[in-house]
Amino acid sequence: MEYKERKKPLELEVIEILDARMQLSEKDQQHHYNLKKGYEGELAFDELTRNLSCDCLVLNDLLLQVGSTTFQIDTLLIADMLYLFEVKNHEGDFFYNNDRIYTKANYEITNPVNQISRSESLLRQLLQTLSVTTQINSSVVFINPAFTLYQAPLDKPFILPTQVNRYFKQLDTLNFRITKKHKAFADRLISMHLTESPFKRLPEYSYGELRKGVICRGCGAFRVKVEGHKCLCIKCGYKESVEDTIMQAVKEILLLFPNEKITTNLIYDWCKIVPSKVRVRRILERKLTHVSNNRWSYFK
Ligand SMILES: [Zn+2]
Repeated sequence: MEYKERKKPLELEVIEILDARMQLSEKDQQHHYNLKKGYEGELAFDELTRNLSCDCLVLNDLLLQVGSTTFQIDTLLIADMLYLFEVKNHEGDFFYNNDRIYTKANYEITNPVNQISRSESLLRQLLQTLSVTTQINSSVVFINPAFTLYQAPLDKPFILPTQVNRYFKQLDTLNFRITKKHKAFADRLISMHLTESPFKRLPEYSYGELRKGVICRGCGAFRVKVEGHKCLCIKCGYKESVEDTIMQAVKEILLLFPNEKITTNLIYDWCKIVPSKVRVRRILERKLTHVSNNRWSYFK
C-alpha cells in the first residue's frame, strides 16, 4: 500500500519552465534531462510497488537527516523487514569493472552501490536513534528495459531489468501483517521528511530575461491564443479555460519567484495573450484572496 506518495520534484518543475522560457546552457540541459529521466524511472517503479497485493507500507521519496548528514531514499518498503530501493533509469549498454560502472564509450558513471550503502548505513543509524531494530534489505533497481550491464557481479545488490518482475512476484508472496507499530514507525519517518530547496543546482535567472507568454500544456509551444472563454493552441488544438491558463501562470510565477506578490499587472504581463487587464483581475479576484493596505495591493 502506497503510504507516502511521490511528487514531481520542485527542481524539475522549475527547470521545465526555465527550459521553455530561456536558453539553458548545455550543462543545465543535461541536468534537466537527468532529472526528468530519473523521475520517469521512479514513476515506472511506483507502478510495480502499487501492484503489490501483499501487506506492506510503501514510502516514496524520503529526505532524512541523521546528525548533520542528509540522505535521500527513492523507496522504502516496510514489511517483514525494511526494503530499501534505489531506482536507476539508465538506458543502453554499460559494463562493470573494478567496482566502477562505465558506458560503452568508457565514460564512468556513479556506481549506485556506493550510494545505497551510504543510505543504508545512515538509515541504520537513524533506526538506532528511534530504538527500532529490524533488518534492512537494500537493492539497486535498474528499471529501464533497454539497460544492459556487462560483467555485472553476482554479489552486488542489483535487480536488473530482466529480474524486476520476478523479484516483485517473489516479494508478493510475503505472508505478513502490518500492525499499528509499523504504521507509527512509518508516520514517524514521514514526519522527519525534509524539504530541500530546489534552487541549489538551478541556473540563475531573472524575470526580465524569461520569455513571456503562455506555454501550451498539450505540446509545449508558445502558440496559445484566447478565443472567447477558452485558450486554444493553434499548433496542437489543446484547449482550456482562460481561468485555468491564468491560474497556471500564477503557479509558474510562485514556483520561479516564491517571494513575488501576485498582481494583475504581473500576471497580465506574464501571459501576454489575455487581451484585457480587467479580465485578468476578475479571475484573480475570483480564485485568490485580495490583500490591500496602504502600500500594497496583491493576491494570495
Ligand atoms: Zn499545443
